[in-house]
Amino acid sequence: MSSYKVFIYACFDYNPDTISNLVSKTITTIPLTNPIKGKIVIKPNLVMAHPQVATESYTRSEVVEGIIRTILKNGTAVDRIDIVEKSGLGITTTTAFRHAGYRKLQRRYGVGLVAMEESPQVRLGLDNGKIHKSIRVARAIADRDFLIFAPKLKTNVLSNAYSGALKLNIGSIDSKERMYHHNMDLHKKMIDVLEVSNPDLIVGDGIRFAFGGNQMTQHGMDLGVLIISNNAVAYDMVCAKLLNLDPFKIDHIKEASDRGYGPGSFDDIEIAGDLPIETVQQKTAGLDYGYYPVDQFKCNFNTISGTPYCTGGCQGIFLDWLHMVKDRKLKTLDRFPKLTALVGKVTGKIEDKTVLLIGDCVQASTDDHAKSIVCIKGCPPTHKSIAGI
Ligand code: SF4
Repeated sequence: MSSYKVFIYACFDYNPDTISNLVSKTITTIPLTNPIKGKIVIKPNLVMAHPQVATESYTRSEVVEGIIRTILKNGTAVDRIDIVEKSGLGITTTTAFRHAGYRKLQRRYGVGLVAMEESPQVRLGLDNGKIHKSIRVARAIADRDFLIFAPKLKTNVLSNAYSGALKLNIGSIDSKERMYHHNMDLHKKMIDVLEVSNPDLIVGDGIRFAFGGNQMTQHGMDLGVLIISNNAVAYDMVCAKLLNLDPFKIDHIKEASDRGYGPGSFDDIEIAGDLPIETVQQKTAGLDYGYYPVDQFKCNFNTISGTPYCTGGCQGIFLDWLHMVKDRKLKTLDRFPKLTALVGKVTGKIEDKTVLLIGDCVQASTDDHAKSIVCIKGCPPTHKSIAGI
């Protein structure tokens, strides 16, 4: 029998009781490395939550409420429960907690809401980091006895179309370190963090599935699935499959598997629950995840992509930003000026009146008639700096 288990359950509404019952029955059979006791941390995905513009891309509070009820029912000697998060750069984590309805969890259950940027942090050394030799995390994560990840099932063009448990760790580190090597090395830095923030239990919110646009503003659909596992790599491998993606073509899943953090193949995973993978695959088949080369995004920009192609860097962030414009104000795309946007080193002469240069390593020779050359610096530039053009 494999020690890597993934349970896939049909779960059609955000009812904390239903979710708690599913988690409770699972943890009686799933082998857990550590007991559920002491200081417990829950890490959801609250990269962005907003009642108008970001309604789908975060872990719903009802899922976390179901987890809290499970802990209170099954945990022994629980000292405290903290929900720890660092939002994306658009809003503060405290605002994300409020918009996502997490403050009621604090009132009802006395759990802590820990906004990483406002809370004590510690720097931890990494023995096996490829990008980071040390990393700053919230003290609550460093001091915890049991760590639960509650990822949102969603797509993300910055990480080969998939975001689940492993990607959640980008929100375990502070803002400066988050953008360091956020380029072709994104998958390596993501897995570096696993050394200090590897979850004991994962409970994934696939009741609504967010897909196809910007990682924060994308739209969603009913998928009706709750996924529970005792290993982040196994969880992501199975979830990628639910979305009809090949997990070994997703850099961060392959990196984690190669580094020995989880199974090396599906043969090593025991899949259980009440919902066959094929049923979910039928629902996600043919969906447009928006993950394609940035120069294929249709708009007035003539985008030319050179080398390197950084899925987690310039090309991915520019594509993600274009999706954000499309998600929020479709008509704005039609009003974009005609210009040539260059990303990466491009060979050959560029002839246009306006040329946009994106990223520190962009290089090209432009025609003498180019009246305007706009540079957006950074490795990679931020969404905000692109939006400021
Ligand atoms: S500047 Fe952009 S394209 Fe160049 S390495 Fe950095 S992220 Fe990649």
